[in-house]
Amino acid sequence: MRTINQIYVNGSFVTPHGTETFDLVNPSTNTLIGRVTLGDVEDTRRAIAAAKAAFPAFSKTTSAERIAILQRLHDAVAGRKDELVAAMVEEYGGTLQFSRMSIDNALNSFTSNMELLESFTFEKTLGTSLIRLEPVGVVGIITPWNASTSFICGKLATALAAGCTAVIKPSEMSGMQTQLLLECFHEASVPAGIFNVVNGLGTVVGAEITRHPDIAKISFTGSTAVGKTIARDAVATMKRVTLELGGKSPNILLDDADLATAVPMAVMAAFMNSGQACIAGTRLLVPESRADEVNALLKQVVGATQVGRPEDPDTQVGPMVSKKQYERVQGYIQLGLDEGAQLMAGGTGQPEGLEDGNFVKPTVFTGVTNDMRIAREEIFGPVLSVITYRTDEEAITIANDTDYGLHAYVSSSDPERARRVASKIQAGRVAINGLRHDPMAPFGGFKQSGIGREYGVYGLEAYLEPKALIG
Ligand code: NAD
Repeated sequence: MRTINQIYVNGSFVTPHGTETFDLVNPSTNTLIGRVTLGDVEDTRRAIAAAKAAFPAFSKTTSAERIAILQRLHDAVAGRKDELVAAMVEEYGGTLQFSRMSIDNALNSFTSNMELLESFTFEKTLGTSLIRLEPVGVVGIITPWNASTSFICGKLATALAAGCTAVIKPSEMSGMQTQLLLECFHEASVPAGIFNVVNGLGTVVGAEITRHPDIAKISFTGSTAVGKTIARDAVATMKRVTLELGGKSPNILLDDADLATAVPMAVMAAFMNSGQACIAGTRLLVPESRADEVNALLKQVVGATQVGRPEDPDTQVGPMVSKKQYERVQGYIQLGLDEGAQLMAGGTGQPEGLEDGNFVKPTVFTGVTNDMRIAREEIFGPVLSVITYRTDEEAITIANDTDYGLHAYVSSSDPERARRVASKIQAGRVAINGLRHDPMAPFGGFKQSGIGREYGVYGLEAYLEPKALIG
C-alpha cells in the first residue's frame, strides 16, 4: 500500500495544501494498492506561479541547452524503465507488451524532440520580414489514464523543446505512475520550475489550469466531452488549445487484401491496450464478397486471443482500468445484442477464472450497421464491430460517416489503391497495411477527434507563436 502525499513545485516535492484523497485500485484484482492526496486550487496556483517565474529565463535558452535537458530527462526515465513498466501493469492493468511499448514511446518523445531541435530554426526570413517563432508561454498539460507516462513525456518534451514551461495534471487514477516518473525527472536535476505537477481532480485542478490567466496554452488528451468543456473554459482567456480526443476508427479491408495478415492485424488494432486506445480500429469494414472468409479467420484469431493477468507475458487483453469502465463496456456489449447485432465471439460477463478483476471477454459483433450506437460511440474496451460493404466508394462513405476522425486503417495488396482510398478518409492518420507509428508524423484528429496536431514539426510549432518583424 503506497501513500502518495506530494506534488512537485519549483524543483521540489512538497506537501499539498489539499487534503482529500483518491484510492488507487489494482484493476486485475480490485485490491487497494495506494492512496493519493489530491491537490486543490491553491496547489494549482502555486504550480502555475512557479512555471511563470521560470519562463523568462527558460524561454531564452538555446536549442543546445534544451537538447541537454531533454537528454537528462530521457536518461533518468530510461534508467527506471522496468519500474515504470511494473507500475503501469499494477496500477493500470496494462499488459506487459503494451506497457513496455508505451514506456518506449515516452522515451522516443525525448529523442525525437532532440532530433528536431538539431535542425529546427526559430528565426527565418520570409519576403521582407523576419519571422521569429517564440515559445507561447506557460503550458497546461492535462492527460488521461490510458498511457499516462507516454502522454506526459510526449507533451512535456515538446513543450520544453519549444522553450515553454509547464504545469501538468495527470489523471488522478495514475498516482503511482506519476510519482515514479517525478522521481525520475527529479533525478535529472533540470532547472527548477520548468515543469510542475499537481495530482488532482479534473474539475478542480484541471479546471483551474484551464481558466487561469497565466496559462497560455492547454495541451489535453482525453475524452471528447471533457475536451469540449476545456475548449469552452479556455476561450475566456483566449488560450491556444491542442485537443487529442476520442475516436471510432474504421479499418477498411479492400477486396484484394491479404487476409492472412490483415485479419490478425485488425484484431490487434481493435484490442490494443485491451481496447482502451483512442486509435483502436473498432469498425472493421469488410467486402461482402469476402465476408465468409474474414469471419472464419476472425473467429480463429479472436478465439486464440489470450485474456489474462497483465503481468503474464503471454496476455494480449488485460482488465479494464476500473470497475466503472468495466460496467460501461458490459453495457455496450448488451446494447449490441439489443440493437440486433450478431455475436460472433465474447459477450457479456467475465472470462472464466478472472472474476475478481475488471476483465471483459474480447467481443466481436457481425451484422453491424453504421447507424447502431455500437458503431457510432467510443466504447473504450475490446469490442469490434464488423460492417460489410459492396464497393470501395461505399466503404469510404461508411468510414467517414462518424463524428470522429482520429485514425484509420486500410489494407490492400495494391499499395497505390490503398493510398487512393486512404486519401479520401477524413482522419488525421491513416495506416496502410500495418499498425506502424511514426514519431515524426503529425498526430491528431479531424472533426470531433480534436484540434491541432502533436509530434514532429507540427507538434513543436503548436507551442510557438510566430512574430513577424517587418522592414
Ligand atoms: P477524461 O476526458 O475523462 O479525462 C482526461 C483528463 O482530463 C483527466 O486528467 C481528468 O482528470 C481531466 N479532466 C476531467 N474533467 C476536466 C475539466 N472539467 N477540466 C479540466 N480537466 C478535466 O478521459 P479519460 O477517461 O481519462 O481517458 C479516456 C479518453 O481519452 C477516451 O475518450 C480516449 O479516446 C481519449 N484519448 C484520446 C487520445 C488521443 O490522442 N486522441 C489518446 C488517449 C485517450
